Amino acid sequence: MNFFRSLTQSRRTALPAPTETRVTVPLNGQETVVVLRRHPRARRLKLQVDGKLGLPVLTLPPGVSEAEGLSFLNRNAGWTQKRMETLPDKVDLAPGVIMPFRGRDFQIDHQPDARGTVTVDGDRLIVSGGVDHLSRRVTDFCKKEAKAAIKPLAGQFAADLNRKPSRISIRDQRTRWGSCASNGDLSFSWRLILAPPHILDYVVAHEVAHLVHMNHSPAFWKTVEQIYPDYDRARDWLGSHGTRLHRIG
Ligand SMILES: [Zn+2]
Repeated sequence: MNFFRSLTQSRRTALPAPTETRVTVPLNGQETVVVLRRHPRARRLKLQVDGKLGLPVLTLPPGVSEAEGLSFLNRNAGWTQKRMETLPDKVDLAPGVIMPFRGRDFQIDHQPDARGTVTVDGDRLIVSGGVDHLSRRVTDFCKKEAKAAIKPLAGQFAADLNRKPSRISIRDQRTRWGSCASNGDLSFSWRLILAPPHILDYVVAHEVAHLVHMNHSPAFWKTVEQIYPDYDRARDWLGSHGTRLHRIG
């Protein structure tokens, strides 16, 4: 997925919410589940392979029929198949599994009677409690850590640009790493805490720069550069490794 498309600003309007349905269609001679997403703000047909779902997602803008969408999907069947085949393995959060955290690999060490919920010990994440809650405990821990890392950083970048973010929230956004609403609310994917710290820094800088420019104009990129000079490299990293982060949990 193109990173430019994944980092877009959102605006609050009275438009209806996006809806999603799943259809099974033949693709390259194989019955394939496809997510059809109707989005009132979409401007064109868009095809993605969603890392979290492991499925093709077809976004239909207003006025485009399902048939048109599916014919677009068929024309891009080869691309879709290749993306599906090259998806990184799904990583379920379970005892013994290796997962990235702040760009380093950690092994999940389930110790039911350990103190606290999740603690970092060397290259292990020690998770206490019942195994049924392990996955949720790890993601809750990541969300908390993401918030702790992002909040002060956003404040600092914003101060550098003489701005102030209104609200900062952490979500599990499927296709975006972050977003900036027109009222100044910023939201970020908790998965950024899995990436190396400088990647998280970049996404925070990017969204904070939207407090100055609500677009991706050259002036916007100049503002990003002011607070995060090496943004090209971070963008490339997300382009090539971002999907892996969506395959976790
Ligand atoms: Zn952006």
